[in-house]
Amino acid sequence: ERRPVVIVGAGPAGLAVGNVLRAASVGCVVLEAESRAVVERRPRAGVVEEWAVRALEQRGLGEGLLARAQRHSACEFRFAGERHRLEYGELTGRHHWVYPQPLLVTDLVREYVDVRGGDARFGVRDVELRGLETDRPSVSYTCPDTGERRLLHCDFVVGADGARGVSRAAVPAGRARIARHDYGIGWLALLAEAPPSSDCVVFGVHPNGFAGHMARSPEVTRYYLQCPPGDDPENWSHDRVWSELRLRLAAEGAPPLTEGRLVEKRVLDMHDYVVEPMTYGRLFLAGDAAHLVAPIAAKGMNLALHDAFLLADALVACLDAGDRAGLDGYSDACLRRVWDYQEFSQWLSEVYHGAAAGDPFRAGTASARLRRPFTSPVAAAAFAEQYLGTAERY
Ligand code: FAD
Repeated sequence: ERRPVVIVGAGPAGLAVGNVLRAASVGCVVLEAESRAVVERRPRAGVVEEWAVRALEQRGLGEGLLARAQRHSACEFRFAGERHRLEYGELTGRHHWVYPQPLLVTDLVREYVDVRGGDARFGVRDVELRGLETDRPSVSYTCPDTGERRLLHCDFVVGADGARGVSRAAVPAGRARIARHDYGIGWLALLAEAPPSSDCVVFGVHPNGFAGHMARSPEVTRYYLQCPPGDDPENWSHDRVWSELRLRLAAEGAPPLTEGRLVEKRVLDMHDYVVEPMTYGRLFLAGDAAHLVAPIAAKGMNLALHDAFLLADALVACLDAGDRAGLDGYSDACLRRVWDYQEFSQWLSEVYHGAAAGDPFRAGTASARLRRPFTSPVAAAAFAEQYLGTAERY
């Protein structure tokens, strides 16, 4: 079998690339290790930046999001028993859209498979990439039903198989640099069957550690609690979770938290990596396969979409018109935003975690950093710009 493009991974990155290629009538196939049902249910991200909303809309992929997402225009920091609201919508005219990742992925799968007639093969095993440095790369995999081995010849491979995929590992040592950063902290990521307790995202900065509140839908709220890295979620009983959330998110005049059953409870160790360059021969990495950004600033899915649209446009230009400029510039163009978002995540990490670092000097500087946007309009505007992601290009 032969296809111009093989896409490994049906997350936001792979599906966005597939949709743009289908719309341009470029032949492609998406290979995904999980079933369609699993991919459509995995709860993860939930914040989409305005430029990404517009980019989805321009590609005919924004209908579900625009119909159902909540538009947010402010966030709130709680520290030292006080509430400080930052109206980033007023400051910048731009917003965040809260749209759970499973809904976005469901929209992208439906559009790719059911509307645009795209070829997606779910449940494949043992994907292997070959000949990436030649002009005839290939991808092989095992079919879920028959156990038969299949071989796909192609011109380009899109490695969009996330942080634990095989694409990044197909780049030989010495052909790319992997820069890593470990924050040395964990976040207990929780999903509660409870309505949000605020009309906006709330960040609690407390000597016990960070706590976050993020609406996901009228019935479900995501919470985060800073914890030691590698902590066992079983150390966090229902009662311990809610009493710690109440403590870390407490502030004068704040409404009480609406509690509910915890339907997800897992510990994320906060770390980042960036693969440079994001290409190797005919392989183009996109999304978490190329760079992981800890969920501190809710940037990962946005970066995945940014890569995907740049890459898809570059593939169409190359395959339709023989124009390689987009592919040649792909890695550099993505990495500018990647490093910008990594830097902001690091900066924000200190704001969130400095108070609990056990070091009074760090606690002091973190507190100064935290207060600055609420005392200086210029600092508030600068914060808002980074929090919302730059609109450059889209
Ligand atoms: P993925 O979504 O990981 O998709 C990769 C796909 O490849 C998966 O479907 C996987 O099954 C498949 N795959 C893996 N290996 C193989 C293989 N060998 N063969 C075939 N297929 C394979 N980002 C935000 O922007 N905002 C947020 O608020 C936010 N919150 C987050 C909260 C949590 C708890 C977590 C874990 C992440 C969060 N993120 C957030 C990050 C975001 O979820 C990721 O950045 C995003 O999913 C990346 O998309 P992707 O398409 O690159 O990779």
